[in-house]
Amino acid sequence: MTSSVQRITVLGATGSIGMSTLDVVARHPERFEIFALTAQRQVDRLFEQCLQFAPRYAVLGEESTAATLRGRLREAGCRTEVFSGLHALTEVCVDPEVDAVMAAIVGAAGLQPTLAAAQAGKKVLLANKEALVLSGALFMEAVRASGARLLPIDSEHNAVFQALPGDFDRNPAAAGVRRILLTASGGPFREAALADLEAVTPEQACAHPNWVMGRKISVDSATMMNKGLEVIEAHWLFGAPAERIEVVVHPQSVIHSMVEYVDGSVLAQLGNPDMRTPIAHALAWPERIEAGVRSLDLFEIARLTFERPDFERFPCLALAYQALRSEGAAPAVLNAANEEAVAAFLDGRLGYRRIAEVIAACLERAHGLSVDSLEAIIAADARAREMAREEIRTRQ
Ligand code: NAD
Ligand code: MG
Repeated sequence: MTSSVQRITVLGATGSIGMSTLDVVARHPERFEIFALTAQRQVDRLFEQCLQFAPRYAVLGEESTAATLRGRLREAGCRTEVFSGLHALTEVCVDPEVDAVMAAIVGAAGLQPTLAAAQAGKKVLLANKEALVLSGALFMEAVRASGARLLPIDSEHNAVFQALPGDFDRNPAAAGVRRILLTASGGPFREAALADLEAVTPEQACAHPNWVMGRKISVDSATMMNKGLEVIEAHWLFGAPAERIEVVVHPQSVIHSMVEYVDGSVLAQLGNPDMRTPIAHALAWPERIEAGVRSLDLFEIARLTFERPDFERFPCLALAYQALRSEGAAPAVLNAANEEAVAAFLDGRLGYRRIAEVIAACLERAHGLSVDSLEAIIAADARAREMAREEIRTRQ
């Protein structure tokens, strides 16, 4: 069966996930058409992408950069219309002609357009885990109310999705799931001496052993906050309580995650660490398409190993479990404080080991914040960022 052409909006097209998405899309011109591409400020890359994919719309963060892109595209004879700002970002997600939205903006900045896509009943390909961590209950309620199809791009959640029965959403209780096992590489500092972590530089933190990713998620992988956010993401995607979601350190990044059932069966999804696999899976679901990923060579890998996570080395992972258990605004505060602390670390304003301290201090101060509406979530996020900036200043 050949599917009809899917029209896709790619939020964050110039990022690591955005570019991998366009790589897969380019392999299947008969299946996919790009409706809109968005970026915050990378005009050069977005220009090249517009020439290649001829989207109807392109969106940039600021009007000044949008004007530059508009001029260059006109000169090149490309008819893509260029807009700027949050309203345009949302419009290109909810347009009736759009079938699917790849949510690949990094951080809380992706919340509003991603939520709008869910409310509009689109197929939402979710890479932007921060949006779900921030808005959990509200986001999942929007998906249920609109009948949107939510497909996880994060490799772990995509693996879990593949290991769950196809009708899991309709009757999760009957599926017999005992535990969700999220694998984690342990990042670049899994074996470093704890004393050496004081002097870690952004370059060292961004040098991930197995994956090439954006800088923010690379730092999150080094602190294991990425896995912490993923535990919260799994909670919302699969309706599992914290005690049924376990983290397994697996340095080879070959098993992307597992589901254990009550009969003792454990189903795993394996593959080379290449994000084009989950992206292609979600783009074509429930069919399968070529992703350009080389075959898994088990003989070359030879050994798969597993370790318990070390919560002392990775305090951010413990903080994420704590935030999930305390519910309310805690996950939103955790996320906002982490974004601010990671940005300060990448700018050289905060030591690596201070990241977890800033987040812990914000979680302690964040009582009484509410997340029961979009406005409340935005306010809680803003308040948590203010607190985080104060905490960062006292540690400079
Ligand atoms: P990236 O930094 O490479 O790209 C981010 C994209 O978002 C860019 O296109 C940028 O222009 C855009 N952007 C940044 N700030 C923005 C703002 N304020 N408003 C609008 N657009 C903005 O990041 P990435 O590594 O591609 O990650 C994107 C998302 O996918 C993150 O949420 C990350 O956690 C998730 N993710 C990434 C990977 C990976 O392998 N890179 C794996 C799993 C999940
Ligand atoms: Mg992941």
